[in-house]
Amino acid sequence: MQTNQAQDSGQVVAYSVENRVATITMNRPSYHNAQNSKMTYALDEAFQRASHDDAVKVIVLAGAGKHFSAGHDIGTPERDINESFERTSLWYDHVGKDGGEFLYVREQEVYLGMCRRWRELPKPTIAMVQGACIAGGLMLAWVCDLIVAADDAFFADPVVRMGIPGVEYFAHAYELNPRIAKEFLFLGERMSAARAYEMGMVNRVVPRDSLVETSYAMAAKIAEMPRLGLALTKQALNHVEELQGKRAAMDAAFAWHHFAHAHNELVSGDRLGGYDARAMANSQREPEPAGVPQASAGEAA
Ligand code: ZN
Repeated sequence: MQTNQAQDSGQVVAYSVENRVATITMNRPSYHNAQNSKMTYALDEAFQRASHDDAVKVIVLAGAGKHFSAGHDIGTPERDINESFERTSLWYDHVGKDGGEFLYVREQEVYLGMCRRWRELPKPTIAMVQGACIAGGLMLAWVCDLIVAADDAFFADPVVRMGIPGVEYFAHAYELNPRIAKEFLFLGERMSAARAYEMGMVNRVVPRDSLVETSYAMAAKIAEMPRLGLALTKQALNHVEELQGKRAAMDAAFAWHHFAHAHNELVSGDRLGGYDARAMANSQREPEPAGVPQASAGEAA
C-alpha cells in the first residue's frame, strides 16, 4: 500500500480504494501536511466520495510522509486563507469581510462545520497517525472513529500560547478526561502515543513499521460487518456524546475561541496574537519536527 509514502504529486489529497477500504491521504509531506483550504475542501470531496461509493465499507485517513499533520497552514507559500472556495455549508464567503466576521465565518465553514460533517459520515473511519499530530491535526484524527498510532506519534494543542482556548473543534474534554485535557492545554506539551493510549485517546499503539498493516487489518475486519449495522452503531455512539453535551459544549468553546481571535486583533492587530508558524515552533521547548518552520501548530486558527 502506498499510504504514508511521501508523494509530492501536486495533488494535496490522494484517494484510492482497495478491498472495500478507501484511503484518503493528506499529501503535502514537504509541509508536514499542513492543512490549507485547498486541502480541507479536497478532504471533504474525498470523504463524500467514499461515503457515496457502495463499494467502500471503511475509510482510512492517512498523512503522507513522516508526520500525520502539523496543523492548519499558518505559513506555507500555499497558504490560501484569502481565497474563495465552493462552500459545503450555507455560510457565505468570508473573503472581503472585516473585523471578527472574516475568521468567524471562515471557521464556521472549514473547521467546525466540516469536522462535524466528517464525524457524522455514516461509515467507520480510522485515523492512521505517525509523527506529529498538532492542533488542526488533532481535529482530523478526532473526527475519526478509531485512531491507530505509531509509537513515534505525538499529540499537542499549543494554541493557548496564542491566547486562544484550544482548536476550533473543541473535543478535548471528550477525547480526554477533563483534568488531563486541562494539563494538555495549559502546558501545551506533546503527549506521546503511549500516554494517549493510556488516556484512552487512541485505540492501538504499534511500532512504526506495523502501522499500515495493523490499520488495514482492523479495517478489513470491520469491512466484514454489515453496512447498516456499522452506520447505526456509529450513530448510536455519536448520539451518546451528543447526550453528554458535546455539540453544545463545542458551540460555547467556538464562541470563546472567536472572542480570543477578536481580542488578539484589538490588542496586537494580529488574530493569532503575533504568533506565526516559526514563532510557535520556537516557543516549544522540545525541538519541532524537522522543517516545521513553514508549518506548525494550529491556525488557531
Ligand atoms: Zn480559529
